Amino acid sequence: MTDKADPQDPRVSFQELKLLLKAILINNRTSSETADILAENCAGCERDNALSHGIFRMPGYVDSLRSGWVDGRAVPDIAQFGPSFIRIDARNGFAQRALASADQLIRRTVRETGIAIVAIRNSHHFSALWPDVEPFALAGYMAITAVNGLANVVPHGGRLAVYGTNPIAFAVPVHDAQPLVVDQATSVMANGEVRLHALANKPVPSGTGVDRDGNPTIDPHAILAGGALNTFGGYKGSSIALFVEILAGAVTGGQFSFENDFTGFPGAQTPKAGQLLIVIDPNCGGLTNFESRLALLCAQLVDAGQDRLPGARRFANRAAADQSGIPIALGELQRLRTLAGE
Ligand code: NDP
Repeated sequence: MTDKADPQDPRVSFQELKLLLKAILINNRTSSETADILAENCAGCERDNALSHGIFRMPGYVDSLRSGWVDGRAVPDIAQFGPSFIRIDARNGFAQRALASADQLIRRTVRETGIAIVAIRNSHHFSALWPDVEPFALAGYMAITAVNGLANVVPHGGRLAVYGTNPIAFAVPVHDAQPLVVDQATSVMANGEVRLHALANKPVPSGTGVDRDGNPTIDPHAILAGGALNTFGGYKGSSIALFVEILAGAVTGGQFSFENDFTGFPGAQTPKAGQLLIVIDPNCGGLTNFESRLALLCAQLVDAGQDRLPGARRFANRAAADQSGIPIALGELQRLRTLAGE
């Protein structure tokens, strides 16, 4: 994850940033309700220094909305099948809005049945996954999610992009501590990170991707201009990307990453992707020690020498931002204000 923070940058509060982002979205064909959800999500990424999905994404949201590729005013259609299976048709809107609209139903389903499986289709996901799972861990549940995207990742040994960067995330509560939150692409590098490297004209590490002819490259521009990323972890990582593609692109009734087609929507960037979310009540059946067992496991990881727990960097950044504001370069702030029509 790219870290920024120039001590000279101006600081804005989370609320100030959220309102600015909300205004940008409302100005660009988004309902107030959806704008509120996306602004909270994007400002949260910036606050936590999850920069590949922070304010750097706003022009992409705006271009996609203006192109008509994604519907910022879509109202999702939610249906429950059996005690635990919830299907959502996001109606070409954002997955985060779909999830927020079903939040109460998901929580009730988990309370009553011990598990909720949420399959979102016809949706766009242009952000990090941790905001989708972390709130459930804060409520005492385990949440697991997978999202597919735009085909820009080659399967192991392949030449053509088939998978999206297909992220997967999970979050669990830990006794007397922040939840444990893991959120990662199944490509060597997230596409947003490649774009940040391209903006900074910085090479990516060797093994990250291939150019348009399938040759290995460390040039982020070549990866973005018709090239592709590799999956992490060789053929094993490639199979995890396949797993995500099936969960998010098929179990949901959504589409595969390679089925995205921006033709006719110049400027569109948000991947039309499916999302599968599973929320589990670990206390189901009278278990009472899940969180303390997780605390034991985390302590063991630290004792074993793991330098930090997943999610810890974000929580530390969040605490710092809550105290002294979110650092944003003046030029970026001005660009956001212009987008907001100020
Ligand atoms: P990173 O490689 O930066 O981090 C992956 C996970 O590993 C995080 O949970 C991170 O915690 C943790 N981690 C990182 N370093 C360490 C360490 N030294 N010890 C222990 N844990 C560590 O993530 P990616 O670049 O793969 O993905 C970035 C983001 O991009 C994710 O939020 C992902 O959801 C998003 N994404 C979204 C897509 C979409 O289509 N919507 C597509 C692909 C990716 P921490 O967060 O605390 O650093």
